[in-house]
Amino acid sequence: MTPSLTWYHATAPAAAPRQALAGAVRAKVCVIGGGLTGVSTALNLAERGIDAVLLEAEAIGHGASGRNGGQIVQGYSAPMERIEAAVGRSDAQAIWDMGREAIAAIPDRVKRHNIDCDLRWGYFIAALNRSQLADLRDTVEQWAEYGYRGPTMVEGSAVRSVLATDLYVGGMVEPGSGQLHPLAYLLGLAGAAEAVGARLFERSAAIEIHYGKTVRVTTSGGTVEADTLVLAGNAYLGRLVPEMNRKVMPVASFIGVTEPLGEERARRLFPQDVAVADCNVALDYYRLTADRRLLFGAGASYSATTPIGLKDWLAKRIRRVFPELTDVAIEHAWGGLIGITHNRVPDFGRLAPNVLYAQGFSGQGVALTGLAGTLMAETIAGDDSRFRLIEQVRHLPFPGGLLRTPTLVAAMGVLKLKDRLGW
Ligand SMILES: Cc1cc2nc3c(=O)[nH]c(=O)nc-3n(C[C@H](O)[C@H](O)[C@H](O)COP(=O)(O)OP(=O)(O)OC[C@H]3O[C@@H](n4cnc5c(N)ncnc54)[C@H](O)[C@@H]3O)c2cc1C
Repeated sequence: MTPSLTWYHATAPAAAPRQALAGAVRAKVCVIGGGLTGVSTALNLAERGIDAVLLEAEAIGHGASGRNGGQIVQGYSAPMERIEAAVGRSDAQAIWDMGREAIAAIPDRVKRHNIDCDLRWGYFIAALNRSQLADLRDTVEQWAEYGYRGPTMVEGSAVRSVLATDLYVGGMVEPGSGQLHPLAYLLGLAGAAEAVGARLFERSAAIEIHYGKTVRVTTSGGTVEADTLVLAGNAYLGRLVPEMNRKVMPVASFIGVTEPLGEERARRLFPQDVAVADCNVALDYYRLTADRRLLFGAGASYSATTPIGLKDWLAKRIRRVFPELTDVAIEHAWGGLIGITHNRVPDFGRLAPNVLYAQGFSGQGVALTGLAGTLMAETIAGDDSRFRLIEQVRHLPFPGGLLRTPTLVAAMGVLKLKDRLGW
């Protein structure tokens, strides 16, 4: 038996492999990428009666959507003031509201399509030093200005009411964010998309794109001709579309899943059963699974290399938070690529009037990919007013060529130092 790609793949409902594209196919829209962005787009299109064909290079959920921390996070990876500086207060409000809508859409979808994906609410953003705590207080105030008053702050010993650790000086308790089994969620959406007529192909990598009034996408087994193309390959798209590749940096992050902790210990470590992320750039993010394992993510590394002895590396990160977990084995470990933009705002755009894309969710794609799917479907159906709100945010390219990786490793080194010193 081949080992599962991730713990998610070992525990998601079994899905029969889908067919690879064979021969010539015609569709209104061709979507490249079978993660949450591509599948949400196909689902939203099919619900509007728009015929969509989706091509996935491997299997649905092979990319970040089937490997992530499963954390549903409020807002955007960029602070709202950065978005406000880019688009003005009133459009920033609309963008904030769409972020709220993206979160609300998850329980809606779960219910509507009867998806069993262990959806739970409650989140804790942890501060490792006073400077991070002050930033979190500012965030609470800023979100309140945008009309969201969910979070509260805890400090000092009160952290222990949320989490059994002394590592943090305080943090933000955020009831409107949460967690789920991302692959089960994605496969549920994929089934829902097929149920309303979308055609999903696996093991069908797009190897060539011919742009024009009719777009033609070629795989090793066939071609798709379509009026519109949606590019949803994010950090896994590679160099297929250089204009997009320049604006998104693939950053590696790693996750380990322990053996079950047992109900009593799990409840003691996570008295409020929240998902957690700290404020570092190379952050820790973790939560309990339904069967009470610790699912612990750590990153990020711009070098995109896997740490030697990944399980030991993760075990060390876990013990920094919970020193008592010396006796717990890590049963699954894997890595994945997060697509980061320069300003941490997602990059939504058009390469031509009939070629749309969304990428660079900067670590917050579990919710925002759903928004991308909705907005791209709206645009293709004739109303791009909401897509344009995010599209107007400008994105700087990352350095290219030989400078690309060394520059980012250096940048990451500075940011890690900042984490350590609490600047
Ligand atoms: C380890 C890790 C932890 C994360 N944790 C969180 C988290 O807790 N919360 C959160 O909100 N976000 C998190 N993220 C980010 C989140 O997973 C992503 O933002 C989101 O899944 C992006 O979805 P996507 O569909 O755009 O891309 P992906 O899910 O990466 O899907 C892209 C797909 O396109 C396919 N593809 C690429 N090229 C081609 C081609 N030429 N032809 C056909 N198919 C192609 C790939 O095989 C892939 O399946 C995490 C990411 C990682 C890697």
